[in-house]
Amino acid sequence: METWNPCIECGICCTHFRISFYWAEADDAPGGFVPAGMTERLTPYLRCMKGSNSMPRRCAALSGTVGEAVSCTIYENRPTPCREFPVYFDDGTPNPKCDELRATIGLPPLPFSPLPRAA
Ligand code: SF4
Ligand code: SF4
Repeated sequence: METWNPCIECGICCTHFRISFYWAEADDAPGGFVPAGMTERLTPYLRCMKGSNSMPRRCAALSGTVGEAVSCTIYENRPTPCREFPVYFDDGTPNPKCDELRATIGLPPLPFSPLPRAA
């Protein structure tokens, strides 16, 4: 079944948060997967996505124009915080943080969605 993915015309969260994660998620560590060249060191144990730790904030992996058309250029290898930030909760309720961020760029609130959804 085809699903609507609101993220492809949004992307505001990729310009809002510092995307930090355990250093060994990067691919210069055994079993790591996030491209290390797109990360920077925060502490001995943490890295973050380049561009997400400075202002104006914008993750280096984000392509396109926020609020119009965007994509994550490392989608299959994005770090844990990106995988765990939900657009919808299991009952179909939109994440209120998404609606709060979307409003800052003039996008409408997300509709309730009981249907299968893109991750
Ligand atoms: S703020 Fe929500 S809807 Fe917008 S890109 Fe991020 S996860 Fe998707
Ligand atoms: S890695 Fe991808 S999903 Fe995560 S903040 Fe960057 S562009 Fe967004």
